[in-house]
Amino acid sequence: MSCGSASVTKDQGVGVQTASQSTQPPHLSSEQAASRAQFYAELGVPPSASGLLHIDLAAIRRNYRAFVDACPGAECAAVVKADAYGLGLEEVVPALRRDNCQTFFVANLDEAERVRNLALGARICVLSGLLPASADKFTRLNAEPVLNSLEEVWEWSHHCQGLGRRLAALIQLETGMNRLGLLPEDVPALTQDPATLSSFKLSAVMTHLGCANDPTHPLNATQLSRFETLRRFLPEAPASIANSAGIMLGDSYHLDLVRPGIALYGGRAVDDIENPMSPVLRAQARILQVKHVAAGEPIGYGSAQTLQTDRRVATLSAGYADGYFRALGGSDETPGAVTMLEGHPAPILGRVSMDLITIDVSEVPGELVQRGAFVDLIGGGVPPDRLAARAGTMDYELFTSLGRRYHRIYVHD
Ligand SMILES: *Cc1c(COP(=O)(O)O)cnc(C)c1O
Repeated sequence: MSCGSASVTKDQGVGVQTASQSTQPPHLSSEQAASRAQFYAELGVPPSASGLLHIDLAAIRRNYRAFVDACPGAECAAVVKADAYGLGLEEVVPALRRDNCQTFFVANLDEAERVRNLALGARICVLSGLLPASADKFTRLNAEPVLNSLEEVWEWSHHCQGLGRRLAALIQLETGMNRLGLLPEDVPALTQDPATLSSFKLSAVMTHLGCANDPTHPLNATQLSRFETLRRFLPEAPASIANSAGIMLGDSYHLDLVRPGIALYGGRAVDDIENPMSPVLRAQARILQVKHVAAGEPIGYGSAQTLQTDRRVATLSAGYADGYFRALGGSDETPGAVTMLEGHPAPILGRVSMDLITIDVSEVPGELVQRGAFVDLIGGGVPPDRLAARAGTMDYELFTSLGRRYHRIYVHD
């Protein structure tokens, strides 16, 4: 803590940061500084942590229970692909198990293996389906493929016949997204082939909605009706259509099994309504340096933004490598996204670098602008959905891009 301290002083508010001025007294009293340091130490945060990611597992469980209550006739699975949407599979799965979640959807077999190590008795469904020659690994992990084509159905059937075991698998039907699933014309063909269909256990029939984020979109009802028509050709099995947004479309979309992902993590599933879920995530970076920058000076790479007036500028310890998108930066044409320092807005100035961001702290009370202070980037007063929209994207991409550098704090209750 000896050199390079922020040169914020009581009387002048801010001083120009230079190495020779690093002996100026910090604004926090030593007791305040000690109590703050103790607060973070009690949370297990090492003094060297450059960023903090608070993940509220209790809020994830609340969101899960809200779906259980909203779908009384259906089983509520949890989609935990992509490391539980970036929030940490190893923590999220055991938390959801405490609320008796029995079924987990993942994208691929590596994720299935991680879930299996956490939840011996759980049912694991692999959305990407059966890659050639991967059936043995499914069997070893006791995971179920989502069969997405006739070829996959035949390969799984062949595998089951070879083992003499009716192993479980789901079938996905193509109903309007044109992404994955058996085509409508494949389904009657399969009906003509009872030996294939009886060789494995059909554990669910599913499809996926392409436009559920927009409740007024006509494709929602079209997909539901195509799904209902097609699944009658298949053996009786639990039916599943709803992701988070699908659940919010109403009871007729719940069927037997719902598959929420984003909303469990507090993300926005449906456009243009208030997000009803409990927020889960808060990402913070730290102030590395504070300085006074004069009007007319450029900030950051490319001199993308030039100051119109004198500003107090803080440099933060996070950047696009931490999932703070480069598109969030400021320029002379477009103001940067806003960060929050203890509830006070501080907009980005100039471009977002890989590891650094510069923010305007001129309007933040001087005593809060301290070297080492934590600044909210995402959550904690910065709604993730609005930040994502500002970057031209959505919560899904924001969460799954968070990066591995944050010190993570999991809140259990
Ligand atoms: C990702 C995914 C889900 C979960 O979707 P959310 O919008 O995150 O709730 C459900 N079903 C399928 C097939 C998926 O790929």
